[in-house]
Amino acid sequence: MRRVALLGATGSIGTAAQDLARAYPDRIRLVSLAARSNHEALIRAAEEFRVPRIALVDPEAARRARSAWKGGEVLEGEEALAALAAEDGVDVVVNAVVGGIGLKPTVAALSAGKRVALANKESVVLAGELLLGIAKRSGGSLVPVDSEHSGVAQCLAARPVSDVRRVTLTASGGPFLRRAPASIQDATPAEVLKHPTWSMGERITVDCATLMNKGFEVIEARWLFGLPPDRLDVVIHPQSIVHAFVEFVDGSVLAQLSIPDMRLPLLYALSAPERWTSELPRLQLLDLPSLSFERPDPARSPGLTLARRALEAGGTSTAVLNAADEEAVRLFLEKKIRFGDLMPLVEEVLGAHRPQGGALTLESILEADRWARARLHEAAANVARG
Ligand code: NAD
Ligand code: MG
Repeated sequence: MRRVALLGATGSIGTAAQDLARAYPDRIRLVSLAARSNHEALIRAAEEFRVPRIALVDPEAARRARSAWKGGEVLEGEEALAALAAEDGVDVVVNAVVGGIGLKPTVAALSAGKRVALANKESVVLAGELLLGIAKRSGGSLVPVDSEHSGVAQCLAARPVSDVRRVTLTASGGPFLRRAPASIQDATPAEVLKHPTWSMGERITVDCATLMNKGFEVIEARWLFGLPPDRLDVVIHPQSIVHAFVEFVDGSVLAQLSIPDMRLPLLYALSAPERWTSELPRLQLLDLPSLSFERPDPARSPGLTLARRALEAGGTSTAVLNAADEEAVRLFLEKKIRFGDLMPLVEEVLGAHRPQGGALTLESILEADRWARARLHEAAANVARG
């Protein structure tokens, strides 16, 4: 039995995790649930899974939850996420919150020696090296939920990275794969949010259209698998059937395939190294479209370019990259900036940053995060005025 704290329980990954808890009542027990503000959905889940403790980051939502639900305790505020993540009686923390706010709960869970099934890739983009150090000291572990990284981990099957020549992550290419970059400058949120193969939360869907999501995934792979960036490739694979390739030093290449459904990598993050029989939809080889692979076009993948630049600059640069992108995406979704402004704004903030080298601390990372958010808003105000 895995006792699970589910953070971000109301989102796309969070509801996939609820599906799994429903499908495996003898193996997965949800012991706590957290979300930002959707207290109604959180209470519904708490009732269904008889969860004794829930948390809402938004205090007003927490107040409403307390008057509507008498089935257990309601925590509130950002600190509640870390408190639930570190609690005794939790074996696995599924971190499925979106954004840099997911970092502290990851730190808390790892410090307490837990397994973190990590959907919140922002944690690693902000603080990959720091998290590895904590995990090493505490005995905690980071298990990827991201489909590509789950694919890599499955192909690696615990072989050392010295056996690996190259890892290749696939990218769908997003909604604008075949559009001329000049024609998408004024793309609306509604157009950007129509992803061809995956159904996901808003922020990651926008990040797929700029390829920033794939850039984050290169950073994530760099830390999770200990591979230098020049051994991490990206190929465009519009069908999203192959999630990753691992080429070993002898020339053999293993790939991981499945239909695009996040419940599968999430299931593996919970079951690993075991495999649990599932009723998830199967890959039907004979019904597959032909699978194609192409090189990313730099003009259509500015986010990937910026992420590689941040990774090379090192230190606090990747934290700045995430923070600037997070704020820029929010402004875009609020229709305050154009789609075409997104990456130039992030680039401006990254260019203005003087990365702090040496051993990073949680505080120096969060300081860089705050700086980048403020700087992004200044830059966006100039764009809006101009
Ligand atoms: P989503 O927007 O659907 O859900 C986000 C969840 O986080 C919600 O439960 C929400 O209540 C919570 N949340 C949002 N802001 C919060 C805050 N300030 N404090 C606390 N909780 C907050 O997002 P999603 O698509 O489920 O993505 C979640 C994470 O998983 C992201 O890091 C994303 O990059 C990653 N991920 C998602 C997918 C996918 O298929 N959806 C695939 C790979 C990785
Ligand atoms: Mg992914």
